[in-house]
Amino acid sequence: MSFSERHIRDRSLWWDTLPGTITPRPALQGDTDCDVAIVGAGMTGLWTAYCLLDAEPSLRVRVIERQVAGFGASGRNGGWISAGIAGVHSEWAKTSGDDAVRRAERATWESVDWIGERAAAEGIDCGFAKGGILSVARNEAQEQRIRAHVDYERQWGWGEQDVMALSREQVLERVHIPDARIGYFTPHGARVNPARLARGLAEAVERKGGVIYEQTAAEFIEPGRVVTEHGTVKADHVIRATEAFTVQFANQSRAYLPLYSLMIATEPLPKTVWDELGWNGLETISDAHHLFFYAQRTTDDRIAIGGRGAPYSLGSPIDEKFEQNEPVRQRLINTLYASFPAARGAQITHHWGGALGVPRDWSMSVTYDPTTGLGFAGGYSGHGVAATSLSGRTLTDLILRRESDLTSMPWVNHPVRNWEPEPLRWIASRAIVGIMGKSDKIEDAGSKETAKRMAIIRPFLGH
Ligand SMILES: Cc1cc2nc3c(=O)[nH]c(=O)nc-3n(C[C@H](O)[C@H](O)[C@H](O)COP(=O)(O)OP(=O)(O)OC[C@H]3O[C@@H](n4cnc5c(N)ncnc54)[C@H](O)[C@@H]3O)c2cc1C
Repeated sequence: MSFSERHIRDRSLWWDTLPGTITPRPALQGDTDCDVAIVGAGMTGLWTAYCLLDAEPSLRVRVIERQVAGFGASGRNGGWISAGIAGVHSEWAKTSGDDAVRRAERATWESVDWIGERAAAEGIDCGFAKGGILSVARNEAQEQRIRAHVDYERQWGWGEQDVMALSREQVLERVHIPDARIGYFTPHGARVNPARLARGLAEAVERKGGVIYEQTAAEFIEPGRVVTEHGTVKADHVIRATEAFTVQFANQSRAYLPLYSLMIATEPLPKTVWDELGWNGLETISDAHHLFFYAQRTTDDRIAIGGRGAPYSLGSPIDEKFEQNEPVRQRLINTLYASFPAARGAQITHHWGGALGVPRDWSMSVTYDPTTGLGFAGGYSGHGVAATSLSGRTLTDLILRRESDLTSMPWVNHPVRNWEPEPLRWIASRAIVGIMGKSDKIEDAGSKETAKRMAIIRPFLGH
């Protein structure tokens, strides 16, 4: 495989603005053995390697990465370190009980601080800023959803300090979104430059003695070994950390729906724009559309904003040609200008995307079988940045056979239910995007009557 730095930099704003040169680490050179082999150097694989080495410095940990560390969703995402469990609370509660759901939710909150502390301790300059999360309603239907969300959180016992309902005026005090009607704010979230976090983490893994083989594709994974194009890595423990890419392995094609999320970024915006916009608290911001946007103010004063809606293709669901999509790009530009009019006219310098892994029930799993030594984590359904750190810590405890609060979390050994065979998964994904997009348009036009329409796709959304 020939390496092109340009190809890597083109994957996202975060990659494009990464300082220095991107040189791949050496590939695996023939057969080797170790204690733990991890396939995939995204945040799941890297946090797992990092936490294992932190706990047991003598462990021989090897990470096998097809491209370069951070190449996947981890180096392209919206940089929201957002707390909250991937999956539907009420569904988790059916299998684990309400208290376990509360404990899990709290663990995701703590993980936000944990990531910030680790990044600081490792000297990772990734723009971590704990500004919380602001979600705004921009039409009447969204207003109802925001109110319902706050009520729902109260039912789970979370108070004002965890989820605060905001009036229009309170939203505008934070950021000038002219059509904001109401909103809510939670302090449990941070902004980060994800590629810098992933790259810094890879270096921290190496400082602790881990080895990362880049430009090395795993061909298959089985108990005790990972077979790659350059040799076999034998290991007592083998962890698959390939999230959306998992579907490329022969027997895993239905494990996830690889859902593309796409982003754009503006040029760095001048002070005059920020004077008008506010946004001094560095909150990550979203609206309450079904195909919601997610945005952050970057360390270099751009707005990076993303959303879903890119069509999923039957047959080869992961392909670089899906990382850009003109209609989605245009929708994001329209959303940017409508939501943050002070930025109207700003140059759009970047457009990119990547695949995230959505399991059939939209619920993440951290799985490890002590009899085979095989494990995996993923299925974060777009909420992976905080969750990957929990996966890494949990897999560490499971591999080292340490019982902990983490090893009793609801997602531990949560079975992954496969998606229906094609073309049903394709139909489901088209229906999800199509119906959500249509419902958003109807709601933007002033109607609240989209519940029946949305009910059609509810069975595909993990409810
Ligand atoms: C555009 C976008 C925006 C997002 N925004 C957010 C957000 O703001 N907040 C949030 O919490 N989540 C967000 N997500 C989701 C989040 O980024 C992911 O859930 C998370 O990064 C998954 O990390 P991972 O390490 O499990 O997988 P990945 O980061 O995808 O890493 C998997 C790695 O495995 C490697 N690999 C694949 N196959 C092989 C093989 N055969 N052999 C060797 N290596 C292989 C890949 O090259 C890749 O580096 C977003 C995702 C996208 C795409």
